[in-house]
Amino acid sequence: MHTYERSEKLFNEAKQVILGGVNSPSRAYKGVGGGTPVFMNRGKGAYFWDEDGTRYIDYLAAYGPIIAGHAHPHITEAINAAAQDGLLYGTPTKYENKFASMLKEAMPALDRVRFVNSGTEAVMTTIRVARAFTNRTKIIKFAGCYHGHSDPVLVAAGSGPSTTGHPDSAGVTAATAAEMITVPFNDADALEQALEQFGEEIAAVLVEPIVGNFGIVEPEYGFLEKVNKLAKANGSLVIYDEVITAFRFMYGGAQDMLNVYPDLTAMGKIIGGGLPIGAYGGRLDIMEQVSPMGAAYQAGTMAGNPASMRAGIACLEVLREPGLYDRLDRLGARLEQGLQAAVEEAGVHACINRLGGALTIYFGVDSVTNYDEANASDTAMFAAFFKHMLQEQINLAPSKFEALFLTAAHTVADIDETIEAARRAFKAMN
Ligand code: PMP
Repeated sequence: MHTYERSEKLFNEAKQVILGGVNSPSRAYKGVGGGTPVFMNRGKGAYFWDEDGTRYIDYLAAYGPIIAGHAHPHITEAINAAAQDGLLYGTPTKYENKFASMLKEAMPALDRVRFVNSGTEAVMTTIRVARAFTNRTKIIKFAGCYHGHSDPVLVAAGSGPSTTGHPDSAGVTAATAAEMITVPFNDADALEQALEQFGEEIAAVLVEPIVGNFGIVEPEYGFLEKVNKLAKANGSLVIYDEVITAFRFMYGGAQDMLNVYPDLTAMGKIIGGGLPIGAYGGRLDIMEQVSPMGAAYQAGTMAGNPASMRAGIACLEVLREPGLYDRLDRLGARLEQGLQAAVEEAGVHACINRLGGALTIYFGVDSVTNYDEANASDTAMFAAFFKHMLQEQINLAPSKFEALFLTAAHTVADIDETIEAARRAFKAMN
């Protein structure tokens, strides 16, 4: 058994200066019953090394952005060059033009884009823009989808599809929560009911087109088309939160893969190549609401900064490599099949959702198509699996709601090593 001596020391030190010892709550292993989070020291390709020198195969991929693998040479070179040229100007640069053009070429629904610094900012701004365009206030979202930590989205469902929400975080006001209605994912009837109930109050329907936040959950056949149809009939906009999905499953968005297009799109994660970024965009007439053209304000000292732009451009260049997404899909299928066989061999009750190079194992349930089913999965079993895998030097996200993400750097040997480790974990769990 390897030890986490240095991590323990660093975590104790961290708690003296950083509230809770971490800068984002799930890093404190909240979702797996607590413990000392492993402090990583260095990453390269599919691996990283902790402060005690232990090497891990990484499936966290920093919650998604690191699709090219850690310290990819092409992206690293772009960031080095950006640093050499001075990191921040506060003026426009040609890199913003180039990157916006690349995004637009890959995602044709983006008539215009704007860069911000996080997925949170991107979603938050699409909500403001939708309200400005429609002159309405309420938003509908889907249970279990995560849209960042801005006030309008930190809202839990009311008691039924036709009731407004209540604050999901201390500090969010009841008045803010009353502007959000939450309905179950993959439930077009509930959406229809909410739209009927609130009618012309609804500015937009906000959705992860392929869910990444209660594991990987695909929309049922026709669901997104129905979302579009119902929203349009009601004069409401459709916002896709593609913070996880943009460039995850193909070169472009989930919208381009599924051929269903929203009015506005929010992005982040992968498009920054590992540096902080967010972006939003969509139909020209809607985007024209944004300052300096329109009256909906959005700004940012770091927005469109040259380093994030150059890292993003470099990341997209890497992702253009022919066959890259096919390879992620093949590796994903291999991992899924291996885990499935190991689950059956050990007699563990679990099911797996997978799309391309992203998958989720849910323990104790037969299938997951919505949040309630994902939430019903066994947290203690996931925690046991997570901890066993960590001892096996396989790093997963510390939450049953997060996916395992493959990167372009993972090899067949890494996958097979992971399956063998999982086989031992499942046996130990039974
Ligand atoms: N939307 C989705 C779908 C996300 O998964 C996340 C982050 N996990 C966000 C928004 C927020 O992005 P960020 O953490 O960059 O603020």
